[in-house]
Amino acid sequence: MPSSALPTYADVVDAARRLEGHAHRTPVLTSRTADAELGCSLFFKAEHLQRMGAFKFRGAFNALSRLDDAQRRRGVVAFSSGNHAQAIALSAGMLGMPATIVMPHDAPEAKVAATRGYGAEVVIYNRYTEDREQISRTLAQERGLALIPPYDHADVIAGQGTAAMELIEEVGPLDVLLAPLGGGGLLSGTALAVRALSPLCRIYGVEPEAGNDGQRSFRSGQIVHIDTPRTIADGAQTQHLGALTFAIIRDKVDDILTASDDELVSCMQFFATRMKTLVEPTGCLPFAAARSHKNVLQGKRVGILLSGGNIDLNRFCQSMAR
Ligand SMILES: *Cc1c(COP(=O)(O)O)cnc(C)c1O
Repeated sequence: MPSSALPTYADVVDAARRLEGHAHRTPVLTSRTADAELGCSLFFKAEHLQRMGAFKFRGAFNALSRLDDAQRRRGVVAFSSGNHAQAIALSAGMLGMPATIVMPHDAPEAKVAATRGYGAEVVIYNRYTEDREQISRTLAQERGLALIPPYDHADVIAGQGTAAMELIEEVGPLDVLLAPLGGGGLLSGTALAVRALSPLCRIYGVEPEAGNDGQRSFRSGQIVHIDTPRTIADGAQTQHLGALTFAIIRDKVDDILTASDDELVSCMQFFATRMKTLVEPTGCLPFAAARSHKNVLQGKRVGILLSGGNIDLNRFCQSMAR
């Protein structure tokens, strides 16, 4: 499958086979308190308990598993300050491949250390004066590395779709499924799985209110570009959807909703106090939208993708104290 062709449900099934024994089959959490508050049955897919703390391991491991031996020896390069970098670094280490990660000079020290801890080489760039995509492309050319982008790649999309696949396999058909939306890798992969396994289920992407480019793109039919939005949902601070992710989202998703930072903080507090679980702000997007649309969810079976749990402890404590 060339990386520019649209992936299908068959690719999600193949990805699930490749991930078996390598990715965690994460639990599905339920909460009577949440069900009572919203008047529906909620099934939370706990991807914050995935390896390296987010679903991104699925797409990264699937994409790297598909490289041939010669490419594996040369290695891989990725650019990201967040979960994709960790996912590539960890997956490359597991597959015995060298990894180079291009990170901004102001990336949190803990993230840089974690990436090095997985065995990756970190190349630092200046966020204000340099272009990380250009640097990554140059590294890819000079050193013969495979460049794996965070969302607009068929194997990444197929891998991300395995989370929703597992959820429906475990709990059965759903009426509604909500997933966070950044560049759209998770939402498009999810849509491939859900349309095959629970065809009548309505699928919604949820993005930060401050960066609703996905909603505007979905409603206008054209990919809308925005400046990096100011939001605590750092996993969804993307400036635009991808060509592949947008094509799938347009075709298979029902609508895009938004949530505010205050709503995300309130959800983080709910998860910590009522469900004893730590979800990062981006991972709270779908539950926040479910809360503000509960009138249309009454009596329904609702899937929620908790996408990740990587948050700096200081920031977590600040959110809890608010
Ligand atoms: C990357 C990420 C997202 C958004 O995923 P996309 O595939 O870019 O839409 C959501 N939540 C978390 C925790 C992430 O790391």
